[in-house]
Amino acid sequence: MTNILVTGGAGYIGSHACKALKAAGYTPVTFDNLVTGWQDAVKFGPFERGELTDRARLDEVFAKYQPAAVVHFAALSQVGEAMAEPGRYWANNVIGSLTLIEAAVAAGCLDFVFSSTCATYGEHDNVVLDENTAQYPLNAYGASKRAIEDILHDFEAAYGLRSVIFRYFNVAGADPDGEVGEFHRPETHLVPLMLDAIDGKRDALTVFGTDYDTPDGTCIRDYVHVCDLVDAHVLGLKWLEADKGSRVFNLGTGSGFSVREVIDQSSSVTNREVPFTIGPRRAGDCTKLVSGSVRAEQELGWTPTRSTLKSMIADAWRWHQSGSYER
Ligand code: UDP
Repeated sequence: MTNILVTGGAGYIGSHACKALKAAGYTPVTFDNLVTGWQDAVKFGPFERGELTDRARLDEVFAKYQPAAVVHFAALSQVGEAMAEPGRYWANNVIGSLTLIEAAVAAGCLDFVFSSTCATYGEHDNVVLDENTAQYPLNAYGASKRAIEDILHDFEAAYGLRSVIFRYFNVAGADPDGEVGEFHRPETHLVPLMLDAIDGKRDALTVFGTDYDTPDGTCIRDYVHVCDLVDAHVLGLKWLEADKGSRVFNLGTGSGFSVREVIDQSSSVTNREVPFTIGPRRAGDCTKLVSGSVRAEQELGWTPTRSTLKSMIADAWRWHQSGSYER
């Protein structure tokens, strides 16, 4: 079976990707430092612990598994933290990724799938966000991801590294089989925080700002189910295998939901009240991030099947209530 090196395979999206890769006939080799990931989420292939900045360790792993491609999820990814500690984001995300990319090239592993983000676009008034939209990130998280995109382009010109870059919109939901799900400590994302508040696992959710220029004053995001998102990565690998060249794809559904709409839908799915309070804006948040692209559908043949708000919240809720959620 073909080995694929999956950085961050012990994390939320990475663990779902490993399941999808295994189902598609690949062997996902997880490389993770377990700072934000969980070893018990590594269920679908071998595990190698290590730091992305440790070139010798990376060389060892490339030599051992001879992966056909890298799927690179590992990153720090919280907007609030990125505003408070930008240096950590630049060091971990950019230097870590650069070291990984150099190790891949040195090992002759020239197919690379990269998790970028819609946060690279930043604030745009009434602009449809497609892959050609100018990137003006508002925070060090988005800026670090944009920098890695630039590194990938430069390494293609110099060494022939081929990349599929996915710009994720907001990922939510969990594996419907309950094998893996979302679990961050600390948690900062809207859907899991809200489900924790519903469940009494934490105090009320704080809504970060109700004075945005949106119909109900709260921020709008484009939510995509984690299972649909990782399916795109399998298609991305096939794209590279077919030698179709480097390409950037937005991964979003094109439908935007406000924080209030997500709260209302969660209340309806769980049949419970969502305890929430109104707080100030969170620094670094954009008003609205919604994908305006169908490139992934048209060119990759990506068909999201679970990305309604209702399915995402229902799957996340089932995971929250399962014993596996507790760690
Ligand atoms: N949000 C919120 N309260 C929270 C966490 C998030 O109101 O406790 C809002 C946040 O301002 C944003 C949306 O929910 O508009 C999604 O935030 P999240 O952190 O889940 O993802 P991001 O958009 O930062 O990638």
